[in-house]
Amino acid sequence: MRFSQAFIRTSKEDPADAEIISHRLLMRAGMIRKLASGIYIIMPLANLAIKKIENIIRSEMNAAGAQELIMPCVLPAGLWKETGRWEVYGSEMLKIKDRAEREYCFGPTHEEVITDLVRHEVRSYKQLPVILYQIQTKFRDEIRPRFGLMRAREFTMKDAYSFEVSFEQLDENYKKMHQAYCNIFRRCGLKYTVVEADSGAIGGSSSHEFMVVAPSGEDAIVYCDSCRYSANVEKAATDIEKIIEKPAQPSGKKPEKIHTPKASTIEDLAKFMGVSKNNLCKILFFTNAKAENDGREDVVALISGGFELNEVKLKNHLGFINLEMIPSEEVEKRIGAYPGFGGPIGIKPKIRVIADNSLKSMTDFVVGANEKDYHLKNVNLSDFKVDSFTDLVMVDAGHPCPKCGAGLEKARGIEVGHIFKLGTKYSDSLGAKYIDEQGQEKPIIMGCYGIGVGRTMQSAVEQNNDADGIVWPMPIAPYHVILVLLNSSDETQKKCAEDLYEKMKRAGIEVIYDDRPEKPGFKFKDADLLGIPIRVAVGRYAAEGKVEFKRRNSKDLKVIGVDEVINIVKAEIEREVNI
Ligand code: ATP
Ligand code: MG
Repeated sequence: MRFSQAFIRTSKEDPADAEIISHRLLMRAGMIRKLASGIYIIMPLANLAIKKIENIIRSEMNAAGAQELIMPCVLPAGLWKETGRWEVYGSEMLKIKDRAEREYCFGPTHEEVITDLVRHEVRSYKQLPVILYQIQTKFRDEIRPRFGLMRAREFTMKDAYSFEVSFEQLDENYKKMHQAYCNIFRRCGLKYTVVEADSGAIGGSSSHEFMVVAPSGEDAIVYCDSCRYSANVEKAATDIEKIIEKPAQPSGKKPEKIHTPKASTIEDLAKFMGVSKNNLCKILFFTNAKAENDGREDVVALISGGFELNEVKLKNHLGFINLEMIPSEEVEKRIGAYPGFGGPIGIKPKIRVIADNSLKSMTDFVVGANEKDYHLKNVNLSDFKVDSFTDLVMVDAGHPCPKCGAGLEKARGIEVGHIFKLGTKYSDSLGAKYIDEQGQEKPIIMGCYGIGVGRTMQSAVEQNNDADGIVWPMPIAPYHVILVLLNSSDETQKKCAEDLYEKMKRAGIEVIYDDRPEKPGFKFKDADLLGIPIRVAVGRYAAEGKVEFKRRNSKDLKVIGVDEVINIVKAEIEREVNI
């Protein structure tokens, strides 16, 4: 491709709404353009990178025995009503109507459609297992679209679904997909880590996320350097018994009211009472719905003052589809507790109380007295009701690893892929069954496996850049080589560059040739911004039959003979393109 003819407009200016480096660089390099909030045009250069990622995905999925198909993006409402997700999916689903007022959505995901397909096509165990996938456009009306393609509303996803007759078969396919994902992200040149992930309220299922480690990541992950345990904080566990000392025997004293006028934070209160934060009991108020006639249930959660509460764990424990805090002005009326000085003693009896396991290790602790400026001390579990205990801890850096006890580290990650053992969630609700060897009808077992294609491309930019621009990993670079003609009015240089361009094309090298009549500095800046891995510049050495060779990720500049260029370039590409 000649730069002079390419549809590329670069810019020095950072776009106003781009908060993270990859978004800024993709905009400045003219690789993406915003059409509307969360809706982007993928420009030709980025499209080349995306197509390479898609081909890596295809080759690994096919090698793992998966078969590609294409499902529609506009999906009839009926299927979603059958599984209940027409309502449950909430406002992320874009609902549309046709001319006859029939309801559809723009597919945010395809479990319903694929399960419907399989329930019609599969009769017998002989047709299973099977893994099907597509690479296709999704729409999710995200609350906060941001960061360019990272959290878009319209985006490309590779979604795969597996169908099995047994959990052993599911385990096998899950392992295959896990391995395929590792191969895919390695081949895209990404530094990634696999973490245990939350699998929602459907207990027992396992789920892993593939995280590109980056400070701008929206997810927090914890990991253990000693035993390699790693998990999304939504799911992460710790060993609280190692944090909270063994409980002393309760003193036998009755709860006693203490005037605590200035103790508005946990820290202040611990200081004032002369106890550790771990011996204060925090209370939080949640609900599943705003309105009473939506089947609203209010609950109370209790946790030791030394920890933050993990709402995902609470939501899963309760089996709630939605979980939100009760506005503090409504707490007294709905719960019978006094916000800021709330506690479990004296709240309305019908309110469900969920306590974190940390409370089991606490004796003679402090709770709010449900009265302005008062707390109670010498409180024990026997002084109030708890409906259930569970793990509600938000794990943080320094907490002990649940597997080996070493201190956990924390980092941020971008979720590029997610694999999930679904079990029979969708086959049950849609009635997808097969006949087994004994002639018995059984529900089909399922797994699902997603990769964000645009997010993967942008993550590669987020991880591979410097002050001058993008530094593409070779396997997904839009072009492998940028050939730069430094002085286009110098006939020797021009002839040398034109010859080299033709030779490179003939040798099958993916090259963009900057033939524009611009200043060398300007062209070099563009070459750096675009991040093409190899730069070959034709300048004053052309008269001696020599050119400048430079890698985007290195400062070294080598002067090499024109006749060596093709071989050197080819060797570098071959070494790196299949990593
Ligand atoms: P997130 O927690 O980031 O919203 P998710 O759990 O909703 O992700 P999945 O439904 O598992 O995502 O989708 C599979 C993959 O699709 C994700 O791992 C991610 O790479 C990609 N993806 C999801 N939402 C978006 C989005 N809004 N923009 C770009 N890619 C996305
Ligand atoms: Mg999401």
